[in-house]
Amino acid sequence: MLICAAHRLCQLKRLVRLGFLPLVTTLFLLSTVMAAEAYRTDHGFLPPGTSTCDAHVPVTLSVPPNAAPIPDPFQRQYSGGFYHVEEINHGLFYMTDGVYQAMFIVSDQGIILVDAPPSIGVNQQDQQRSVSLLDVIYSIPEARGREIKKLIYSHSHLDHIGAASVIKDVFPNVEIIAHEETKELIARGTGTVEPFLAGSGSIPPPLPETIFRDQATVMLGSQGLELSYQGPIHQPGNIFIHAPKQKVLMLVDVIFPGWSPFSDLAVASDVPLFVAAHDKALAFEFDTFIGGHLNHLGTRADVEESRRYIQDIKANTITALFDPSLFAIFSMVPANSLGAFAIYLDQVACECANLTLNAATTPSGTDWLGRFGAADINTVGHCWRMAEALRIDPAF
Ligand SMILES: [Zn+2]
Repeated sequence: MLICAAHRLCQLKRLVRLGFLPLVTTLFLLSTVMAAEAYRTDHGFLPPGTSTCDAHVPVTLSVPPNAAPIPDPFQRQYSGGFYHVEEINHGLFYMTDGVYQAMFIVSDQGIILVDAPPSIGVNQQDQQRSVSLLDVIYSIPEARGREIKKLIYSHSHLDHIGAASVIKDVFPNVEIIAHEETKELIARGTGTVEPFLAGSGSIPPPLPETIFRDQATVMLGSQGLELSYQGPIHQPGNIFIHAPKQKVLMLVDVIFPGWSPFSDLAVASDVPLFVAAHDKALAFEFDTFIGGHLNHLGTRADVEESRRYIQDIKANTITALFDPSLFAIFSMVPANSLGAFAIYLDQVACECANLTLNAATTPSGTDWLGRFGAADINTVGHCWRMAEALRIDPAF
């Protein structure tokens, strides 16, 4: 049932199965179990007496200066009050509602839009005063009167493309472009969706007319985008979107500048590729990074910093996986191997989070709590996901 990914880990497991625990480890365990409090993990509270890792990272929900919103809606810096549209350069604009981001390029032939998040245009304070995604785009004078000719899906997730039918209804001839896997996933759709996504377009979204496998170039007038697929990093079909002239790179749901990613490595479908995606991103020539979420744009330095954070988590997960003290749970509940293993993995995540969120113990020496928003909340989940992948994924 349990698969060993690392030879050293297999040896440790064999020792545990044989009931071998060194005396010093047992004594250490007794002291830590006595002192430990129940630790909140992604999977609930551990049963009393089973915690061998005492979490000492306070959850504050505070946002460090590095993660503060730019522009700041609370300082009335949004161009549209409850949404913001801003030109990056050479006719390439990004738009955000503080939670989601999309981009579009204006050319003399029309507009290329990348993603259609259903939340952008929704006025959370007063739903009656909401506007459509098209209104948000046309809040920019340079865009007004120009047809949306091409719509690119970054991937198939509805929170990023759920308003695509709004575009298609107004511009039936719009060419929708996506990776072939994205088309497959949308075609499988049943129409079930979270209520907050349902209001701004029909679900499932329209299927792409144009699909590609490895690379594609999208041109419109003097503007162009390079699309490339480098594997199922976050989701099968998620693509890198590069604007060479503007030196902008868009990769959605992988890198969150200034922030710890969304839960569990942003629910990556392929953790080794998720780790490698940071290097792949940095191989592009770009000055500005669009991650698809939050307010502010990223820089190369932001992507490099996100890479350091993920590398820290990987290194600290390996340390925790090989910590023999965490094997105690297997002898505590020998009749429940599945339950014991779940607790073991939670404890590995706990130890990894403790190591990562302490500048003195994490390899890069970074104070991640002082640098990244949501590091206090999300690091333990990243560690859990990383541990599970390191244990069994042959690509690691
Ligand atoms: Zn996604």
